Amino acid sequence: MYDDNNIFARILRGEIPCKKVHEDEHTLAFEDINPRAPVHTLVIPKGKYVSMNDFVEKASDTEIAALMRAVRTVAARKGVDASGFRLIANNGVDGGQEVPHLHFHVLGGRVIGAMVAR
Ligand code: AMP
Repeated sequence: MYDDNNIFARILRGEIPCKKVHEDEHTLAFEDINPRAPVHTLVIPKGKYVSMNDFVEKASDTEIAALMRAVRTVAARKGVDASGFRLIANNGVDGGQEVPHLHFHVLGGRVIGAMVAR
């Protein structure tokens, strides 16, 4: 079940401000409020999708392609396309997902380090 009052839904409705990096018909990208790296931008679909499972099951191919292309656009806009970046999508309880609207973290601007804590 999608929670219409999750923080990203409220950002999409313009009820809460964000520092926008990119927007197109199907996606929005904005700066993470608590950046863990010099570049930390979130890329989200505009549709109401909780997780990757939800997105892949319900989104159109156009929406899925748009999200992937938006990641590429953000990496270029933030200047990390050549230096590299980490793309993270936390999913569900074990994945540590806090906001129940699918989002990709684009992290870069330094060597990000180990993939996961052991
Ligand atoms: P996750 O743990 O993958 O669900 O990540 C949620 C992310 O959303 C965290 O990195 C938060 O810092 C970020 N976040 C929470 N509220 C906001 C907000 N109002 N604007 C931008 N980023 C936010």
